[in-house]
Amino acid sequence: MMIGDTLSHFNLCMIEGAKIRRGITYRPNGQHSVFLLNPATTGSEILEDGRVILYRGADPALTSKKALPADQPMYDKKGNLTLNGKFHRAAMAYQSGQAPAENIRVYQKRHEGIWEYLGLYSLTEAWQVTEQERRVFRFRLERVEPQTSHSQRETHANCSENANPRLIPSEVKTLVWQRDGGCCVQCSSRENLHFDHIIPFSLGGASSADNVQVLCAVCNQQKSNKIQ
Ligand SMILES: [Zn+2]
Repeated sequence: MMIGDTLSHFNLCMIEGAKIRRGITYRPNGQHSVFLLNPATTGSEILEDGRVILYRGADPALTSKKALPADQPMYDKKGNLTLNGKFHRAAMAYQSGQAPAENIRVYQKRHEGIWEYLGLYSLTEAWQVTEQERRVFRFRLERVEPQTSHSQRETHANCSENANPRLIPSEVKTLVWQRDGGCCVQCSSRENLHFDHIIPFSLGGASSADNVQVLCAVCNQQKSNKIQ
């Protein structure tokens, strides 16, 4: 996936491997987190040509339509960290040297249902401010700059050694999704879609675009019946 790519909300969820409904989602697939930026509704700011984002924390759900928006709390009523709280903790852990910076993929809303990928960011700071008599969170995100070709080669070599080769990289998913038109290549269904290894991974098939296709659950099941 490249910075500036646009994708449907459905495609976004396929790539992230989860339904992304909220503005901030903590590690939906266990790796990076996902922030959605909606310029029409959030008080977030994009600075320095997109290298820095000051992201405004997520508002709690309104208890009634007439209720004024409440503070953005650190903890919920049970004493667990809220989503804002989790990202605040991640930023504190980074600043104190206890953990690497949280990686966050940021998407910005372009039109209804259409999102633009702004890039991969590091969460470097988090703090609370008073805004119109409410306590709200601010998160500072700094874009992870593309590496030079030399270090990129090294990183790629490291990745292919360490990463699970069965997992399909998100760049491949994006490519395959666009090539296959976002539907099952067998029956054109748009329901219950999966990325399928054409030659199964267990038979030596690679996780590259030429060996990956979009299949619906029904066709996927039929295919695995035939192989067995
Ligand atoms: Zn199908």
